[in-house]
Amino acid sequence: MQVTLLGTGDTTGTPTPRCDCETCTAARERGVERTRFSVHVRNEATGESLLVDLSPDLRHQFLEQDVPLPDAAVATHVHFDHLHGLGNAHRLLDSLAVHAANEVDPVTGESVADSVRDQYDYLRPLTVHGHAPYETFSTCGFDVTLVPVEHPPMLCYGVVVERDGTKLALTGDTNYDIPEASRAALADADLLLADAIVPASLADPHPVGGDHHDDEGVPRTFGTKHMTREGALALADELDAREVRLVHVSHFYPADEAFEEPLAVDGEQYQL
Ligand SMILES: [Zn+2]
Ligand SMILES: [Zn+2]
Ligand SMILES: [Zn+2]
Repeated sequence: MQVTLLGTGDTTGTPTPRCDCETCTAARERGVERTRFSVHVRNEATGESLLVDLSPDLRHQFLEQDVPLPDAAVATHVHFDHLHGLGNAHRLLDSLAVHAANEVDPVTGESVADSVRDQYDYLRPLTVHGHAPYETFSTCGFDVTLVPVEHPPMLCYGVVVERDGTKLALTGDTNYDIPEASRAALADADLLLADAIVPASLADPHPVGGDHHDDEGVPRTFGTKHMTREGALALADELDAREVRLVHVSHFYPADEAFEEPLAVDGEQYQL
């Protein structure tokens, strides 16, 4: 399993267009980027490639990284930065199987799979496959499982990708309050990719602050939707991940912390 981090940023990316903050300036100087979220997983045994989330930066990512175009994709939720690169499939791909959860979201009145079907009805290469959470399905020679996480108010899913005893786990967009059954599914991964949008120090200035504080009072959730860096690291520790990379990273990290380990940047590649 070859894992390439195509997009490791939040919804504005780093550098953010026209932003002259120290972090965006440092990113430009270093020549590194954190584009909108997407991960490419290649199965060397079958030659197939699976994409987890469809970044609006899809075209740019496939120009930057030397990886094959996807045969299938998993959509974790319907937020713009994770889904709306799907339009790039038009005239680029002959076919693309999109896998997503089939449980109805009370907020939208439809499942992620339904939303993909409705919004991309015009895309002929697409076939959409709905799956129940926790029910493992097969695609690109991988065993893939969608696991519910907490990204209020919408439904969102973490993803587990397995093959021959090798395991990649993605938390998806989530706060620290991941259900126990999902924690169990995400545990013992060879590589864990965890949402860590900001350091915990930035939770206080947020209008709703932080949540899920640890024993020292450090917030493991930023606002309501995402984990802090400290929350993501606590989760990785609890889940016994062999290696962790922090993703969905925003430009709000102070410049002297923004490129420290284990924060990921685009283009990182892992052989599992
Ligand atoms: Zn900036
Ligand atoms: Zn989201
Ligand atoms: Zn997001």
